[in-house]
Amino acid sequence: MDAFTAGQAAAWIGAAADAVAEGKERLTELDAAIGDGDHGANMDRGLGAAREAVAALDAAGPGEVLVKTGMTLISKVGGASGPLYGSFFRTTGKNLEGAEPGLAELAAALRAGLEAVQRMGAAQPGDKTMVDALSPAVTVLEQAAEKGTPLTEAARDAAGAAYDGAQATIPLQARKGRASYLGERSIGHEDPGAASAVLIFRSLAEATAD
Ligand code: ADP
Ligand code: MG
Repeated sequence: MDAFTAGQAAAWIGAAADAVAEGKERLTELDAAIGDGDHGANMDRGLGAAREAVAALDAAGPGEVLVKTGMTLISKVGGASGPLYGSFFRTTGKNLEGAEPGLAELAAALRAGLEAVQRMGAAQPGDKTMVDALSPAVTVLEQAAEKGTPLTEAARDAAGAAYDGAQATIPLQARKGRASYLGERSIGHEDPGAASAVLIFRSLAEATAD
C-alpha cells in the first residue's frame, strides 16, 4: 500500500515538468539576478524531454524511470544543473531496486542521489546551491521512514523542508557555481537551483498524494 511505484515515479517526472514549465519565468528571473538567466529554460527543456522519454518506457520499477530521467537530463541540459540533476536522478534510480520499494528505500536512494550531486559539485549545505534544498528534504524523508510516517505525508513534509532550505539561501553568499563569481553581490537573492529543487519535491508530494 505505502509503496513507490513506476507509475508514481512517472507521475513525479510529469508533475515536475509541469511545475517547471509553469515556474519557468521565475527560475529565469532568479538566475538572471545571480547567474546567466538560463535556469528556467534549462530545466524546462530537460524535464520536458524526460517526461517524453519516461512516457515511452514500459518500466519494471521506479528505479528505471528515474535512471531514464537522469540520462535525459544529462544529455539535454547544458549548464551546471543538467549534469547535477542528471546524476541526482540517475543515482537515485540506480539505488532504487524492485517494483515497489517503500519509503525507507526511497529515502536511502535519494540520499545516494544527493551524495552524487555533492561529489560532482563539491557543494556543502550553506554554499547557496540546490544542495541547500535537496539536503533537508532527503533528511526529512529519512526521519519519516524511521517514524513510519506514510509516504504521502512524508513527501509533503519534505517539500516543506526544501522550501525552507531554499528560502534560507537568500541571505547567503554563493560559494559554488556561477553565482559565486558575484561574491557579496549574490547576497539577498534566492538560489535558482534551490528554487527548482522545491518544485521537484512538491511534485513528488503531488505524485504520491492519495
Ligand atoms: P549554469 O549555472 O551553468 O548557468 P543553471 O543556471 O541551469 O546552470 O543552474 C544553476 C544552479 O545550479 C545554481 O543555482 C545552483 O543551485 C546549481 N549549482 C551550480 N553549481 C553547483 C555546484 N557546484 N554544486 C551544486 N549545485 C550547483
Ligand atoms: Mg544559469
